[in-house]
Amino acid sequence: MTRFRIAIIGAGPAGFYAAEHLLASSRTVDVDMYDRLPTPWGLVRAGVAPDHPKIKSVSDQFAEIAAHPRYRFFGNVEIGRTVDRGALLARYDAVLYAVGARAERLLGVEGEDLAGSLGASDFVAWYNGHPDLAGLEPDLSGTHAVVVGNGNVALDVARILLLPQHILERTDMADHALAALARSTIRHVTILGRRGAAQAAFTTSELREIVGIDDLSVTIQSDDLVAPADLSPMELRRVQRNLAVLEQARGAARAGSQRSLAFRFLRAPTAIRGDGRVQEVEVGVNRLEPGEPGVRAVDTGTRETLPADLVIRAVGYRGCALPGVPFDETSGTIPHLAGAVLSGEREFVAGWIKRGPSGIIGTNRACAVETAETLLASLSPTGPRAVPARAIEDWLAGSCPDHIDDSGWSCIDRHERSMGQACARPRVKLVTVQDMVAAARRQGVGTAPHSGPPGP
Ligand code: NAP
Repeated sequence: MTRFRIAIIGAGPAGFYAAEHLLASSRTVDVDMYDRLPTPWGLVRAGVAPDHPKIKSVSDQFAEIAAHPRYRFFGNVEIGRTVDRGALLARYDAVLYAVGARAERLLGVEGEDLAGSLGASDFVAWYNGHPDLAGLEPDLSGTHAVVVGNGNVALDVARILLLPQHILERTDMADHALAALARSTIRHVTILGRRGAAQAAFTTSELREIVGIDDLSVTIQSDDLVAPADLSPMELRRVQRNLAVLEQARGAARAGSQRSLAFRFLRAPTAIRGDGRVQEVEVGVNRLEPGEPGVRAVDTGTRETLPADLVIRAVGYRGCALPGVPFDETSGTIPHLAGAVLSGEREFVAGWIKRGPSGIIGTNRACAVETAETLLASLSPTGPRAVPARAIEDWLAGSCPDHIDDSGWSCIDRHERSMGQACARPRVKLVTVQDMVAAARRQGVGTAPHSGPPGP
């Protein structure tokens, strides 16, 4: 039977769900998964909030998929930098990109680049110990933070700023972030939504969680907590649940709390001001007008000013182009038909880089399955033949000597978990590539050749 070898680029949820479907196929498919970091799991490691261990436990499923004998991991290999697209296409029957959307969207207002104004993508990566952002050192020495955006990322960021330390220190939050948040003097967080409460993108459980933080005073500034009539039944239920939580929080305002959270709807920053660093946010008051789809925010011209020592923009992520791979700059995605890259050469796409940065982790399963099905249907025994498993290891040993294989990742994983065990935490994360590579090597097997069953 013909055996096919597929490269999946990106070891996050979409990559794993695609791998699972390919490995379960009746065709004999070998999967090599690449990641630019030495560690797999993408946003489950570097995006999901550390105080959400239940969501993070999806990594157990990924570990099961990774245990398949026809799966291999090659971390610390960046496509477009250490390895190029052509080199992959020369060695694999197909290449599937599942690289996510790691850039941030900008507000496009004056002062956005002042010190103290950060993108949520950076802040989240910092507290989660992503090696690129371990040195971010956000200044948390002020008292007021403004978080822009009404999605779940905005709630994550606000919650992390407001949670008491005794909760954070039980998590796998990066040590540098734990120390900085212990010193933080931020006590008042304002969340700005450019549209109304009924248009907020966040989900009810996340909303309930933040307004339920102990000893937090919550204020809701919105005249109107009424759901629009023209929503689908499912969307109507979500909106009604959100509004009920907000209504209840408004009625239960606690006096004398040290920490406060304010939701301000129909408000968007028009400028961020300060002398060398953020000091205040000028906010435009919006009204809603019919738009396509739903309703859109329109600036009324009225201005308000909010004190701010820290501004975090949580207005969505954006995909980045991969060298040589077709890319749509407007949507920040790779154009495709049912997961097959348009104008691509045996190339496929899944996850946020395929459909944009939306949905929960599970949304990636259906997305990846569609792509895997399209890929499987395209495989032809008469097509170009992949090179043998061992030849790929030899090639990587020469071109990326610091790559991390499954056994290297196992060493890192074991090391982090055992450090965590010593202090009753799920793990203590290594936060530099250098330390990860050292941990993989120190335990003797880090970058050793794969010892699994030989390929074709
Ligand atoms: P999101 O859900 O798309 O929310 C983005 C928010 O930013 C929206 O409120 C949007 O408002 C606002 N926005 C966009 N441009 C803006 C601008 N120029 N000025 C002011 N506001 C602006 O994105 P996200 O929060 O980054 O989350 C990404 C995905 O990850 C979502 O599907 C989310 O549910 C998921 N996620 C899930 C969890 C969880 O399950 N716990 C945690 C984190 C993230 P408009 O609606 O007006 O455009």
